Amino acid sequence: MAIINNRLTKEQYEKNFSDIHPPFETQDAALVEANRCLFCYDAPCMKSCPTSIDVPKFIKQISTGNIKGSAHTIFSSNILGASCSKVCPVEKLCEGACVYNLMDEEAIPIAKLQRYSTEIAMKNNWQLFKRKDAPLGDGGRKKVAIIGAGPAGLSCAHTLSKEGVDVTIYEKESKGGGLMTYGIAAYKVTPQFCEDEVNYITAIGGIEIKYHQKLGVNVSLEELQENYDAVYLAIGVGLARQLEIPGEDLNGVEDAIKFIYNLRNIEYSTVAVGDKVAVIGMGMTAIDAATQAKRLGAKEVTMLYRRTEHEKPCTQVELDIAMLDGCNIIWLAAPKEILGQDGKVNAIVCSKMQLEQLDASGRRSPVDTGETFTLEVDMVIKAAGQMPFESLVKNYSIDNKSGKVVINKNCETNIPGVFAGGDAVNGGKEVVDAVQAGKDGAKGILEFLSRKDG
Ligand SMILES: Cc1cc2nc3c(=O)[nH]c(=O)nc-3n(C[C@H](O)[C@H](O)[C@H](O)COP(=O)(O)OP(=O)(O)OC[C@H]3O[C@@H](n4cnc5c(N)ncnc54)[C@H](O)[C@@H]3O)c2cc1C
Ligand code: SF4
Repeated sequence: MAIINNRLTKEQYEKNFSDIHPPFETQDAALVEANRCLFCYDAPCMKSCPTSIDVPKFIKQISTGNIKGSAHTIFSSNILGASCSKVCPVEKLCEGACVYNLMDEEAIPIAKLQRYSTEIAMKNNWQLFKRKDAPLGDGGRKKVAIIGAGPAGLSCAHTLSKEGVDVTIYEKESKGGGLMTYGIAAYKVTPQFCEDEVNYITAIGGIEIKYHQKLGVNVSLEELQENYDAVYLAIGVGLARQLEIPGEDLNGVEDAIKFIYNLRNIEYSTVAVGDKVAVIGMGMTAIDAATQAKRLGAKEVTMLYRRTEHEKPCTQVELDIAMLDGCNIIWLAAPKEILGQDGKVNAIVCSKMQLEQLDASGRRSPVDTGETFTLEVDMVIKAAGQMPFESLVKNYSIDNKSGKVVINKNCETNIPGVFAGGDAVNGGKEVVDAVQAGKDGAKGILEFLSRKDG
């Protein structure tokens, strides 16, 4: 057993990491699907979209050949509508709510239609929004600093820019997009697409992104408060949660976020993976880590989850991807100890669990049965949730719950003029939630700026 790179041929890597949801091949194919839509009056698909995209309207616009109009409809609710069409778990959102499901027929492929429209708009660089010329209130244009160029930061920036506010985004990495660029699996969205999307969003003007600028290192909150009218924190969450078990420091124990970050930054052939890999967790990160370990050429990948399939945090579609990729799943298994030889992982001992009373999350809590089993593995990937940037938030005396920033109904923190949103507040949800958080944050900031002027 060994953790090595270069397990596959160039062609195999390309095939394994190619687009999992290919787009419509022809305009006619898109029209056929658009024309199936019933344009429901009380559209449940729209209600189940966290950004409330007017789905029947944009589909109608596609069906009448008004692609520009349809892209405008999508982007006015969700400026990251292009990437959301690739990464949203639509089976539990818009497509899951489509009335066709009640008729036991295939739901309208809303995401594919959204992708069709937004990709044409991006390819043609249609700029569909104009920045307000007039300065907001007295005293010239307002200036807002945003920390983090992920979905929440970009969505907030675009909404503010439309209203004539000047925005500067401080981003610690060398590219924008946040976890879209550095986290989500390449077979869902490529880093190049994320870069194109960031350029498309910022093309509205009035948004400057300063890269390699880390809050707490290159810039402080006090400086930003002094130089800007308001600050928006969209810093997301950090690395995977520790397992707090013996053996966690052995060679071969990897953080899922670091593993995926490498995958997104360097050639697939240079990313090392074990022969037999255990992945701890069953959320989106765990699924992405497991499927990509398999796609890098690991011989055996086993996902371990301490509850049952019924409580799994990922969707069925995601689980199906992992199973189709040949990943093994063991339910009711919690890691107890990682064993090693010569400093390297060679096995993982797991406790067999059983479910008992409901816990605070409303799910039955897993309890150790006292029985164990051992799996022979050479790599363990930790993906049991991510940790908020607790020390950063505490250093600035920002109210928080175990590192998750606490905000009021206007998205403002306990520090006046400092707002927050996205994963940094909710602890880690989905891109579409972060986009809506960015819009809500911008609304709160605009109200704050007009109050300041008044
Ligand atoms: C592996 C993985 C797979 C996922 N798959 C999906 C999926 O398929 N579909 C889906 O909808 N969602 C998915 N998600 C969740 C989704 O990516 C996040 O919910 C979303 O990106 C959150 O947006 P955000 O802007 O709040 O934070 P982020 O995307 O994390 O962006 C935060 C930004 O802030 C920057 N930053 C952090 N700290 C500082 C600092 N101190 N100074 C300056 N900049 C800083 C970061 O570099 C980053 O660019 C996945 C997440 C992971 C980890
Ligand atoms: S629920 Fe389905 S059929 Fe009705 S408007 Fe939405 S996509 Fe169209």
